[in-house]
Amino acid sequence: MAARPDHDVAVIGAGFSGIGAAIKLDDAGFGDYVVLEEGDGVGGAWHWNTYPGVAVDIPSFSYQFSFERSPSWSRVYAPGEVLKAYAEHCVDKYGLRSRIRLDTKVVGADFDETSHLWRLRTAMGDELTARFVIGATGVFSQPRAPDIRGVEDFAGAVMHTARWDHDMELSGKRVAVIGTGASAVQVVPSIAPIVERQIVFQRTPIWCLPKLDARLGRGVRGLLRRRAIGLSARIASQAFVEATFSLPAHFRSIYPLAAASERLGRRFLRDQVGDPKIREKLTPRYSLGCKRPSFSNDYLRTFNRDNVDLETAPIETITPGGVRTADGAEHAADVLVLATGFKVFEAGNMPPFAVRGVGGVELEQWWDRNRYQAYEGVSVPGFPNLFTILGPYGYNGSSYFNLIENQMRHIVRCLERARSTGSTSVEISAEANRRYFESMLARRHRQVFFQGSCASANSYYFDRHGDVPFRASTSLEAAWRSARFDLDDYRFETAPTAA
Ligand code: NAP
Repeated sequence: MAARPDHDVAVIGAGFSGIGAAIKLDDAGFGDYVVLEEGDGVGGAWHWNTYPGVAVDIPSFSYQFSFERSPSWSRVYAPGEVLKAYAEHCVDKYGLRSRIRLDTKVVGADFDETSHLWRLRTAMGDELTARFVIGATGVFSQPRAPDIRGVEDFAGAVMHTARWDHDMELSGKRVAVIGTGASAVQVVPSIAPIVERQIVFQRTPIWCLPKLDARLGRGVRGLLRRRAIGLSARIASQAFVEATFSLPAHFRSIYPLAAASERLGRRFLRDQVGDPKIREKLTPRYSLGCKRPSFSNDYLRTFNRDNVDLETAPIETITPGGVRTADGAEHAADVLVLATGFKVFEAGNMPPFAVRGVGGVELEQWWDRNRYQAYEGVSVPGFPNLFTILGPYGYNGSSYFNLIENQMRHIVRCLERARSTGSTSVEISAEANRRYFESMLARRHRQVFFQGSCASANSYYFDRHGDVPFRASTSLEAAWRSARFDLDDYRFETAPTAA
């Protein structure tokens, strides 16, 4: 008879997905789990991203668990350290700390078909077994180095926004920032007053909208602690997030506010930037929603500053002294900031280690052959007992916390059925997976991504197959599905050798 696994469940990642997964496992009575975390602290993105200006980009009222409303948001858009503190608070309040193994990087996962369990290998060379695995590795965890020649030859300091070096003194320095995504939108205005010169290399301009931010004083925080007011703030904030992210993206063809939001963005740009030539360069030529828009009241106007330049000529190479652009210009720099984002829908991130399912099939190769797909964004045929929080077609672009709670509702339903039937293997059927995938593809005609105007957006939403593996639905529909999907879409079996 096969040995019992070390744990019923292994959760990989101790960001908010892993924290939420652990809390929901405990709630459902699955206390025999371990959380494996590569980093030396909890909080995921908020542990790693500490660059100047880092803050949440949706209102904090939506950036929290529905069952654990924080009474300590300092702003409508909370800064990074407050989010990190919220992660620590959840870990302590829900007694998770002893179940989290920090500095434990998973480098491989193999499904043992005889014993119906996963064998996880860590970077330390250990092996650990678990009946079920929940992938909670997040989506923005693998920093992307730019495909630009010469970065390693740069004589000054180089840092990626997600690995900020706080010992690096920026005052009086010439800083080159590559990239103009959400991270750059926060870094660029934050360091502009300190540095001697800042040159921002933009390949594709970002839609930047006004940020309805405000400090939340003690009085407001007291009010938010009242159940009805806290709940109302969450509902209002959620409606705002839905109206600005999911609806324009997934319902572009029928969403009446899509054009109005773009007009607002253009007017905001006109109000913020004086020089028409700079304004022209900062104007997006693709529809709002093709890639993640940003909210900032100081990013655009930073380009009015005398010590900040916007460079749109393509980068040819990094030289020891700075950046050479295709027009032959040399831009001297002492520090190179790579605001170049993360691996998203690509090998090395989905998840960031090799996963072998039934018959030794490698998950990334399966996706290569079949395109990214996962039933309800949670499970893949041929990979029993493996669930993901941020799988393909799981996230709709709205609040991650809705996603985490929805996916955990789904996963816990599967685990409860396995427990009540004594099953040791839970596998989604190929037919149910195909049905879900086709239902997502059938909604493309109304999504912004497939209207043609996204061609120039250079959006990481598109994967190598030309698909956009986001869930084409509202958050309400996703929540409803997580409670109602047909459990018979899964096959539940018991291993003869399982203990
Ligand atoms: P990103 O949105 O992927 O932006 C990367 C930037 O680097 C883009 O402007 C990209 O240009 C540029 N770039 C990449 N390679 C380049 C190259 N070889 N040459 C020139 N430019 C290059 O990454 P991010 O800003 O880190 O944001 C990633 C996601 O993280 C966001 O969409 C958001 O969802 C999340 N985020 C959230 C927060 C928050 O909540 N506060 C903050 C930061 C990030 P192209 O556009 O032309 O590719």
